[in-house]
Amino acid sequence: MAKYDVIDAHVHTYKTPEIGRQALSGFESAGCCGTPDELVPIMEEAGIRLAVQCNMTPARTMFEAGLAAVAPEQVESGRPALVEKISGRIKRRNEWTCRMAQRHEKLIAFLSVDPIMGRDAMMEELLDKINHQGARGLKIHPGEGRFFPDDPSLQPVYEFLEKRGLPVISHGGLDIVNPDPDYTRPSAFSRVLERYPGLTLVIAHLGKNFFDESVKMAEKYANVFFDTSTAIPGDKIGRPLDGHSPLSNEEAVDLIRRIGIERVMFGTDYPWYHPLWDLKRFLELDFIDAEKEALLGGNAKRILGL
Ligand SMILES: [Zn+2]
Repeated sequence: MAKYDVIDAHVHTYKTPEIGRQALSGFESAGCCGTPDELVPIMEEAGIRLAVQCNMTPARTMFEAGLAAVAPEQVESGRPALVEKISGRIKRRNEWTCRMAQRHEKLIAFLSVDPIMGRDAMMEELLDKINHQGARGLKIHPGEGRFFPDDPSLQPVYEFLEKRGLPVISHGGLDIVNPDPDYTRPSAFSRVLERYPGLTLVIAHLGKNFFDESVKMAEKYANVFFDTSTAIPGDKIGRPLDGHSPLSNEEAVDLIRRIGIERVMFGTDYPWYHPLWDLKRFLELDFIDAEKEALLGGNAKRILGL
């Protein structure tokens, strides 16, 4: 469909349609279920060459559910086993994501860690998946995990990524999992960006609903980037998706130009949104050819090192 080299910088994949639908929890405006077997043909039809799997495990939600299930007097003694169990789930999910990237040449693997694992376990996981299983970067979700991006336990993680020249993508802005925006609003990333000037940090969703703050962050920090997922969703024929579009087409163009064309990557958050529909809408935006080329794929190649 597109005459551009298109990369979707933000998707999620799931092992089965059932697991995918469970993760969507009723959010079915795109009618997708999230399996690679569904995604890859959609990408082929849309002309999307690569998609970055930003998979994660809802560690904090699982942790709290686990604690709620044990008697109050067993909460303290049960904690290590629970952390171990959740770390196992995180690792298995990362392993599966890497395996999908090996199986499908269109899929790229980012791994995910959570401070709940502890500093050493996070580093171990990072080294294993990056050095041995082909992961190309890290995804974090401070909203779900209820940690601040500059959580001390993440310091060695950022140091490692900075040294290796690998990117970190974080959920950014408004969050349906955790309505407290303090963990993920764009300004929450200031200290990380200051402390690690060589780290490539991507704030997802254009910092949804904190768009002016995203502009300010881009002005202030040379190492911050953004993806458009969930901020500019399209419907079947490329119109703004009804009830889900925080930005009109004109506002989207204006915002991306204010942030800087070279800082922004096309992304969809599949299966929450539909890559073919989102791409149709994106192609309608009033950018010149060179801008579309950069936004749709050129920037992702450079920023994420793809
Ligand atoms: Zn996402």
